[in-house]
Formats: sequence, C-alpha cells, structure tokens
Amino acid sequence: MRIVVTGGAGFLGSHLTDRLLLEGHEVIAIDNLITGSTANLEHIRDPRFTFIHYDVTNYLYVDGKVDFVFHFASPASPIDYLELPIQTLKVGSLGTHKALGLAKNKGAGFLLASTSEVYGDPQINPQPEEYWGNVNPVGPRGVYDEAKRFAEAMTMAYHTFHGVETRIVRIFNTYGPRNRPNDGRVVPSFINQAIRNQPITVFGKGDQTRSFCYVSDLIDGIYKLMLSNERMPVNIGNPHEMTILEFARLIIELTGSRSEIIYKPLPQDDPTVRRPDIAKARKLLGWEPKVDVRSGLTKTIEFYRKMMKVTGT
Ligand code: UDP
Repeated sequence: MRIVVTGGAGFLGSHLTDRLLLEGHEVIAIDNLITGSTANLEHIRDPRFTFIHYDVTNYLYVDGKVDFVFHFASPASPIDYLELPIQTLKVGSLGTHKALGLAKNKGAGFLLASTSEVYGDPQINPQPEEYWGNVNPVGPRGVYDEAKRFAEAMTMAYHTFHGVETRIVRIFNTYGPRNRPNDGRVVPSFINQAIRNQPITVFGKGDQTRSFCYVSDLIDGIYKLMLSNERMPVNIGNPHEMTILEFARLIIELTGSRSEIIYKPLPQDDPTVRRPDIAKARKLLGWEPKVDVRSGLTKTIEFYRKMMKVTGT
C-alpha cells in the first residue's frame, strides 16, 4: 500500500513508519517538525520512503494514489500542549479534517491517533471504550483532550456521511526510544534525571497512577487495528498500573541511580488514575502487550544513555 503518516517525524509516527516499511508498504511522512524531528527518520535508507515538511492544518495535497492515511500529528506531552495550545487545537481539528479529506478524496482507509485523555480524570478504573469521560474543557489540558474528542467525532462523521473506512485508536501512556528526553513526560524525565543522579521530580504525592506501554507493543496493536474493520474506538495500552511514586523507585533501581525523590506541585487536572481496559483489543484483534515494564524500561534507559554519550549532555 501507499500510506501517508502525518506526524511521521514524531515519536510514534516514526516507529509506525518503520513498521510500515518493514511490512513492505510505501510511506509518505508529513510533519511540520514543531515537536517531531528528522533525526527520528535519519536511519531510513529506503527508496519507498518520502518525507514532506508541511503543516497538515493546511490543505493537504499528495500526488498519485494513496491507500491509507494515519493521522498522528499532534503535540502529545502536557508541557508541549501547554506551550502550543493553539497549534494543538488546530492539528486535532483542522488537521484531522484535512487528513480525512485526503482519505476521502483518494478512497483511502484512515486511522486516527486518539488518546486516553478523552477519558479526562476518569471516574471509573480501568477505562473501557464505552466510558464517555470526565474532561474539563477550559482547563489547561482541555486544548488536547477536546481537540482529540472533536477529532473522534469528525472521524465518525466522515465514516457515517462519506463512507470513509475509518479506525480510531485510543493510545495510553507509551514510552520507548525516540521519546524526546526533555518533552516533560514522566518516563523520559525520570530516566534522564536518574542517569544524571539529579533529583527525581514526583508531582503531588505520587499516588496518581499510570499504566505504561512499550512502543513496539503499541505499534503492533495499531497495525492490527489497521487490518481490521472496526469503526468504533479501541484502547491500546498496557494494563499494568503503577503509582508514580512506585514508578520513580523502579527507575532508580533499574538505573542504579543515587538520585533522591523530591516532590513538586501537582499540575492542574492531572488525572488521578489511568488504566486501559483492553478486553476489546484482545477479542477483536487478538492483541495484547508482550513487553513487561522492566524489560521495556531497560531498553529505554539504554537508549538515553547512548544519546547522552553522543551529545555529551
Ligand atoms: N509526573 C511527575 N513528574 C514529572 C513528570 C510527570 O510526577 O517530572 C507525573 C504527572 O503529574 C502525571 C504522570 O507523571 O501524574 C504522567 O505524566 P505525563 O506527563 O507523562 O503524562 P500524562 O499521563 O499526565 O498525560
């Protein structure tokens, strides 16, 4: 297939691109590089790969046939979307519209990268796909959460009214190589603090929970979803839930760090719990995560140590 990946230079977009090329597809990655980086694509030496530097909130034109469109462009870390609130809203709304328009125009399939953030600060745990969520539209995270909720609504409308063969994945916290060390998310932050023996910054009391999925598992679930005919959202994530304090201790153990744990204020609207219910993905896609948190983190720590040696920072 000839496949377009918006956000192709990002953390997930670049891993998805690798997998698609490995499966024998042709890939056109589009990215405006505000949070993505061509360094994530540098290793690719494949004539079936093209990169286009472009902002997908503008009209999207791609020459020739397109069989499938993945819409992965968006700032995705809380500090990124706090710094880029308008861009985040635009890529989730206008960008989704343009990517769907391209799919419709080309008669292509479509997959939206949605998020566990559509559940907001959830009042039920774990979160099944049927849960409608608890989102503060005017809080600092609203720019991301509401953009993605709008994106889901737009995707369903293009399916219902235009017959586009759409899919929606709700991605839960994912980690692994290429996640920017300074993007502010908990996994890169804690690992980079630990390998420098700097204090580990736990926000709040650290009793909030998250469930971390290794990137290869996530991409595998997304690839399986692409091959399916499911139109309703599907959660992809690892249900192994931990408190942030437990997570900080695990990072200290795995890095052999001398870091101490310090406490910082909890950001506004920080979800108190998060854990995917993956019964649907198991049944529908025959998918479940294979990489346990210790082995995934060991590989990720290795990646950041190498990066530190190369850049000397
Ligand atoms: N967090 C933390 N210290 C940090 C960064 C994040 O304690 O240096 C916490 C944050 O408050 C949240 C959790 O870790 O409860 C996950 O944060 P992240 O930014 O990775 O993503 P989120 O799941 O909130 O979207």
